Amino acid sequence: MAKKTSTPIATSEPSKLKKKVAPKAKSEPKQDVKKGEEKEQGMVQETVVLEEKMKREAPDEKLEYSNEQKLVALYNLQQIDSQVDKIRIIRGELPLEVQDLEDEIAGLETRVDNYIQETVQLEKSVLEKKNAIKESQTLIKRYEEQQMNVRNNREYDSLSKEIEFQNLEIQLSEKRIKEFQGTLEVKKQEIERLQNVLEERRGDLEIKKGELDDIIAETEKEENELILSSEKNQEFIEERLLAAYTRIRKNARNGLAVVQIERDACGGCFNKIPPQHQLDIRMHKKIIVCEYCGRILVDDGIVNYVK
Ligand SMILES: [Zn+2]
Repeated sequence: MAKKTSTPIATSEPSKLKKKVAPKAKSEPKQDVKKGEEKEQGMVQETVVLEEKMKREAPDEKLEYSNEQKLVALYNLQQIDSQVDKIRIIRGELPLEVQDLEDEIAGLETRVDNYIQETVQLEKSVLEKKNAIKESQTLIKRYEEQQMNVRNNREYDSLSKEIEFQNLEIQLSEKRIKEFQGTLEVKKQEIERLQNVLEERRGDLEIKKGELDDIIAETEKEENELILSSEKNQEFIEERLLAAYTRIRKNARNGLAVVQIERDACGGCFNKIPPQHQLDIRMHKKIIVCEYCGRILVDDGIVNYVK
């Protein structure tokens, strides 16, 4: 008979059927939305009011946060998330720096290898010319010996011409050897120079790699702390608003979903904000988005509060 394997062998807990404590009810409707207030905003474009139904102002109630509190939380959340973005950008660039260095080193190594091969070839050429000189010298020696036993002047002159020719060959070879050795000297100096550069770059690379490891470890710690802090901030913002924030952030350049009014303009797209909207934004009673770019707008009051 097979026993159920999932049954615990022994446990101090009598039962796992303990009821989970239900999370405290977050949004019990306490009062109805005041419809009359909403109507007053006729001049304001409906699209700019992101949370029309979040009209309830209940600062003393623990369960509902006021729009002002939400704006503070949103702006704070944006600051934290932007920091996370920054960290990720920095961390993304560092491996590229290491990669650049590795590429540079590989390039230098190839150049050194090519130069070494060239010097090998040059040394071979020098050797060939030296052998040619030896050959010519052997020939000259033989011709000179033959000159001792010539039967006539014509033969003697002919051998003299051969000797002269071989002497010219030797001179030519010597000239070539000098040229090769000159080039060889330049190449060897260049190899030495490149090898010094290489050594330096390899040192740089080692340092950079160490830095990269440190920064990755460090930023990961910082990033995790920021993410934790971001999550804590999100508790102040209801899901719907948070979803809007995330959506705007995803679509917005530089990941900015919450921006400050700067010189009467949206801090995200720099379009002018009508005075009536600015007034509404300063009131902190509604969550207002830019009618051009959709970013959530806050005034310096919220910004200074967060700071
Ligand atoms: Zn805008």
